[in-house]
Amino acid sequence: MRFVVGGAGFSGAVVARQLAEAGHEVTMHEQRDHLAGNCYTVRDAGTDVLVHEYGPHIFHTDDERVWEYVNRFGEMVPFNHRVRTTVGGRVYLMPVNLLTINQLFGTALRPDEARAFVEQKADSTIEEPANFEEQALKFMGRELYEAFFEGYTRKQWGRDPKDLPASILSRLPIRFNYDDRYYNHQHQAMPRNGYTEIVANIVDHPGIEVHLSSPLDPQGGRAGFDHIVWTGPLDAWFGHRLGRLGYRTLDFDRFTAAGDYQGCAVMNYGDYEVPYTRTSEHKHFAPWEQHQQTVVFRETSRACGPDDIPYYPIRLVDDKELLSQYLELARGESSVSFVGRLGTYRYLDMDVTIGEALRAADGMLEAIAAGDPIPPFFVDPS
Ligand code: UDP
Repeated sequence: MRFVVGGAGFSGAVVARQLAEAGHEVTMHEQRDHLAGNCYTVRDAGTDVLVHEYGPHIFHTDDERVWEYVNRFGEMVPFNHRVRTTVGGRVYLMPVNLLTINQLFGTALRPDEARAFVEQKADSTIEEPANFEEQALKFMGRELYEAFFEGYTRKQWGRDPKDLPASILSRLPIRFNYDDRYYNHQHQAMPRNGYTEIVANIVDHPGIEVHLSSPLDPQGGRAGFDHIVWTGPLDAWFGHRLGRLGYRTLDFDRFTAAGDYQGCAVMNYGDYEVPYTRTSEHKHFAPWEQHQQTVVFRETSRACGPDDIPYYPIRLVDDKELLSQYLELARGESSVSFVGRLGTYRYLDMDVTIGEALRAADGMLEAIAAGDPIPPFFVDPS
């Protein structure tokens, strides 16, 4: 069959590769002038530092299939991500762990003592947390929440944490030992030569033709193809005809300095009064490299306008209503499948994106083998 794929980030690349390996012809269209979507990494011209152009991306997974897959296309170097946060003029470790607790409260608690201490602070009257704030109060109590989460989350999402889903907080662990790694996953790594090289290797197949700076037109772009895989924004496929799904976009204030600017890869800023959410110092994402100079991104978050890059899907009540209307339209389309963070309007990590793209391709190939129509979705995005 002849497929056309809109978007050359991980989702589009992985689906294209799987289809091409099964003998199908795939044409890819990418509106940007480069591969890898928001995972794009490139060497900074002035310093040679490998920069995550659209903000930090750290690879972490428990999914063996995904781990084998990325290792097939690039060399992954073990990398334990560690984050610090500045609050009230002091520096603490994130995610909240025993040192964070002992520093904030001026204590010297051991694990069991800290667990009992935090439990006694936690609001046990909340049974089913209905929002981000309730989730935080239930698990850590008011002091930890106000210091490390309230201000940061207001800045990041532009909303009162009472209006945000509890699931956002569930991304972060709270630990009662001195383990300060940001993630719990079995595999935590960075690509030695960046993500762009991995995506380039994924799409390097005789069955795949890639067109950069060439957006797929939802109207005319499907002519001559049996099936379309759309990894761009779901609402963009329909020309935003019902309105726009809400996203947050990011602005990066980028600067170069000599030496070591902050001594770590990511410094968060928990205080609401500090306008930025975090600063990323990119050479610390590749600690095996040596650089005299350093490149720093100071990151702020704001509502995404029509010409901005969509980063984080907001998924509040009004977005979800609009989403359900778009899903209805999507299910009525013939010969189109919607895949990935933008195609399904969900907050996805890279490993989940790759895993879902692999399963989407499996589903497409199964449908073809059975002579069935290819479904529009392979996960429930509602
Ligand atoms: N968060 C916070 N304080 C922090 C770090 C994270 O309040 O210092 C909250 C915030 O709401 C954020 C969420 O936890 O959106 C998830 O954080 P994560 O680091 O996973 O976000 P990402 O790196 O994907 O932006």
